[in-house]
This record gives sequence, structure tokens and C-alpha cells, in this order.
Amino acid sequence: MKIHEYQAKALFKEFEIPVPNGGMADSPERAREIAASLGEGKIAVKAQIHAGGRGTGGGVKLVNTPKEAEGAAREILGMKLVTAQTGSGGRVVRKILVEKGVNIQSEMYLGVTIDRRKRHVVVMGSEAGGVEIERIARETPGKILTERVDPTIGLRLFQASRLAFGLNLPPDLFKKGVGIVSALYKIFTQLDCSLVEINPLVTTRQGELVALDGKINFDENGLFRHKDIMNLRDLHEEEPLEVEASKHHLNYIKLEGSVGCMVNGAGLAMATMDMIKLVGEEPANFLDVGGGATAEMVKNGFGIILSDRNVKAILINIFGGILRCDTLANGVVEAAKEEKIDLPVVIRLEGTNVEQGRRILEKSGLNLISAVDMNDAAQKVLSVLKTK
Ligand code: GDP
Ligand code: MN
Repeated sequence: MKIHEYQAKALFKEFEIPVPNGGMADSPERAREIAASLGEGKIAVKAQIHAGGRGTGGGVKLVNTPKEAEGAAREILGMKLVTAQTGSGGRVVRKILVEKGVNIQSEMYLGVTIDRRKRHVVVMGSEAGGVEIERIARETPGKILTERVDPTIGLRLFQASRLAFGLNLPPDLFKKGVGIVSALYKIFTQLDCSLVEINPLVTTRQGELVALDGKINFDENGLFRHKDIMNLRDLHEEEPLEVEASKHHLNYIKLEGSVGCMVNGAGLAMATMDMIKLVGEEPANFLDVGGGATAEMVKNGFGIILSDRNVKAILINIFGGILRCDTLANGVVEAAKEEKIDLPVVIRLEGTNVEQGRRILEKSGLNLISAVDMNDAAQKVLSVLKTK
């Protein structure tokens, strides 16, 4: 789960990482009020979307007065911000962060994530901050310093010191740098994150060290331990169909293709997507209705697949184990009663109660194309798409 910069900065503050004073606004008037409360000097007005690259996309403005802050807010709020990370559709800006402007001396990078291959947490730092870390990695990989941390031991002081030293901080900021590296690691582990990033971490002309941007992604598997963090979720930033699916406890990921998939079990769902690609088509989604799915959940899953406008054919691939084939069949029939299914549906059923399942589907009078195995199912999907 992702959160906004203003929320990440509030967490930074709790862990004693210095951030500029400021607050979130969702109206130009509120932006002006916040700006006025910040005192003399420059003010930064920043679009809050769950994507980076806002600076180059026109989502970050520096102004001089509260009145100008109101004007900048009026421009940014409601705009469709397109950045390198949003895709060409862009993202509508609904919130902005209004904060005290900073006189930047130098921009650095700090981040913590997981190196899955090495099974370690990795803390990264670079003198070359401000730009995307991916670009630094591509163009000047030598400028990224890394410390691998064994999670059972934790980040050791010498590692935090080595990283801070590598940032080439002025001597009087070195200790603060070590503190920030340690705090970042603490956030990462205590809050069950998958990524914590400060880009840029800046030194100011006033000789301070400040986190000018903040990004925190949480591991959703750990969210049940952090009810307060769950409240930071912004559903506007998520794919609407995925939000709908999560309400029904369905494992659904929207993809770009045209074959809607309803499968039980994540492994079978992946294999089904592979089969679809193998015949030259693209899956419209990943959907694992799960072992314990009820007819109700199957019906909801069907509804979600049908509301994706890109879907031109549906492939149901069920190996009845804990989810029995008759339960699945009842769900499909119920869904068909509620929604008009005018798309071709290819279905491959095997496993527990398969005969009952097939009988329910036959009796329903639904126009289903049955397949004997996965390959047959994928071929049949292909041929119905071709004749369309
Ligand atoms: P991102 O582009 O989405 O990662 O947004 P950032 O928060 O990182 O802002 C992008 C860039 O805007 C930063 O790298 C800075 O160069 C600049 N910027 C942001 N806030 C300030 C500020 O208060 N003062 C100055 N001078 N520049 C800022
Ligand atoms: Mn940034």
C-alpha cells in the first residue's frame, strides 16, 4: 500500500527525521491559510499523488506569498498530472502539500528496501539525489552505496555511519545523517514497509539536513498489525475495480488485456495467464477467487470481470479442491441472473463435485463453451475472439 508524501512526512516527524513545516490542503483557500501560518520566505506547493516525478511534470511550485500559494493551489488542484510514473492518462490531483520552502545546497538520496535475492534488507544512499534512483543506477551505478542488513541482527551503527560518511556530508551534519539513516531503518522494520525513501534529502544554505520528499510503501501482509496506517489509505489513488474486489475479499489485479480470468488458486491463475499469452492473447486480469470461495464471492468476481470494458471473452478455470465445482457453478448461475452476460464464456472444470457442477451449468441454459483442459480452454478463447 502506498501513501502520500504529506503522510510519509508526518511519520518521518514521529521518528525524528526533520521535515519542512507545512500541512495538507484540498482547497486554494486552505492553501493560503497554511502558507500564511508559515511566516516569511518561500513556500512550496506540491501535488499529492501516488507517483513520483511530480517536479518535472509541473506538480511542484515555489512561490513567495500566501496569495501566490493560493494561485498555485488553484492551478494544481484538479489538474491531470502526467509524470514518468503515472502513465499517459495522468492522475487527478485532489490534495496538495503546502510547506516552507527550502534553500537547497545539495540533494542526496536515501532508501531502504528488500533485496529478495540476497534475503536481506538493503539500505541505499547516494550523493546524487533529486533524480530517480533508477536513473542513477543506470547511468552512474558507482554513485549508489549500499549496506546489506541481516534482519535478525538489524542495522548496526557502523553501517549507518559508513552510509552517512559516503554522502559526503559537512562534518557538523554527519551525526544527524547517521540518525536519519537509523530512523529510516527503524520505520522500515517497525511499520512493516516494503520501501522507505527520501529523495531528495537536502542540506540547506542554513546548514540543516532536511527530508524534502518522502515515500513509504507498506507490505500489505503486515497491515493487520497497523490499524492506524490502514487509515492512511487513499482509495482515489487505486484502481477502482481493485478497490471493489478487495471489499469482497477477492485477490484481483487489473491488467490490460481482453481475456477476463476467473480461477481458483494463485498458481493456477498464473498458469492460466501463461496459457492465454501462449496462444497470443492477453489476460484482462489476475483473479484468484481462493479455496474458500462462496457462491457469493464467485458472483462478485464475475461482476468485477464484466465491468471491465476491455474484456471480450471470459475464461473460467477451476480445479475443484476446497472450492467445490458445484459451488462455483451456483455462483456463475447467480451472476448470470443478475447481469446480462453477452460475452463468450469458456469454462474448464475439474475436481471435487465436477459432475454436479457440470449438471448445474447445463441446466442453467447459459451459453457456455466447455473445455477439457487448459490448452483446449485457451484455444477456444482464441477462436471465439477471432470470430468476433
Ligand atoms: P518528485 O519530483 O515527485 O520526486 O517531487 P520532489 O518532492 O522530490 O520535488 C522535486 C524537486 O523539486 C526536488 O528535487 C527539488 O529540486 C524541488 N523542490 C521541492 N521543494 C523545494 C523547495 O522547498 N525549495 C527548492 N528550492 N526546491 C524544491
Ligand atoms: Mn522526489
